[in-house]
Amino acid sequence: MADLKSVLTSIYSHLIHQENKGVIASYIPELSKQDINKFGIHLQHINGDVFSVGDWQIPFSIQSISKVLTLSKAISFINNNLWKRLDVEPSGNPFNYLSLLEQENGIPRNPLINAGAMVVADVLLSHLKNPKTDFLNYVRVLANDHSITYDEKVAASEKETGYKNYAIANLLKSFGNLKNSVDEVLDFYFHQCALKMNCEQLSKTFFMLSNKGKCLNHIQHLTAPQAKRINAIMLTCGFYDEAGEFAFEVGLPGKSGVGGGIVALLPNQFVISIWSPGLNTKGNSLLGMQALEQFTTKTNLSIF
Ligand code: GLU
Repeated sequence: MADLKSVLTSIYSHLIHQENKGVIASYIPELSKQDINKFGIHLQHINGDVFSVGDWQIPFSIQSISKVLTLSKAISFINNNLWKRLDVEPSGNPFNYLSLLEQENGIPRNPLINAGAMVVADVLLSHLKNPKTDFLNYVRVLANDHSITYDEKVAASEKETGYKNYAIANLLKSFGNLKNSVDEVLDFYFHQCALKMNCEQLSKTFFMLSNKGKCLNHIQHLTAPQAKRINAIMLTCGFYDEAGEFAFEVGLPGKSGVGGGIVALLPNQFVISIWSPGLNTKGNSLLGMQALEQFTTKTNLSIF
């Protein structure tokens, strides 16, 4: 096996000096305070090996990466019934695109675009006793780390400026695809997006998806077929309208967020988390995409 540590270190050392680091998301004002020069990588191998470099210990806003975690939680208790309210096709559109939802009668294309994540949030609101607390505890158990929290400032900042998300939620509600109120769904959604984690916590949280549903603490959270399906959705829908490009360049299931995080995994082998807050034009971490492309090309570790 390639020496993963030296491959990651050399990718990091090379990219950290790159002049073009992308552009920090500013449509959520609180996110615009991030430092463009931050760059961290953390890899958790299924055999227990861990490699990290750069700013892997600094927490950042995981944003849309949280959609995979809410989906995992929802699938763990309603499984197939979820797919009556949601599809699993790539959208080929930006994460907050509206018109497709109207054309398709309020059934979101997939759970990883905003509309789909709101339907999943609605399911969690209907099934969890204390939704925000219970979901946070779920994430803490997955990561085996009780220090993980919501960043209330980021949640409030998005609430103030999330006009498009209000439009999406209202459209879903008008089609009868939200059972709870628009305000409740959005409050939950803005909080899940405002989860704050560092690269290590993210790798640990996603470990179960590389390990047939079993987390680092050996708790079986999902069945192996459920984990397989979530990985398939990440591969086809995890990168907005750049999902095809990510599969082409990197070849791993993964998910990005506008906070500049990307988590990707090779089933039965490893999870890798990268954070660099500068985004490319499609809203994905610019250095993160490049680092992962170089990593899978140099190591030959991809699903293809
Ligand atoms: N909270 C963000 C939004 O809804 C998530 C976007 C993302 O990370 O893709 O706009």
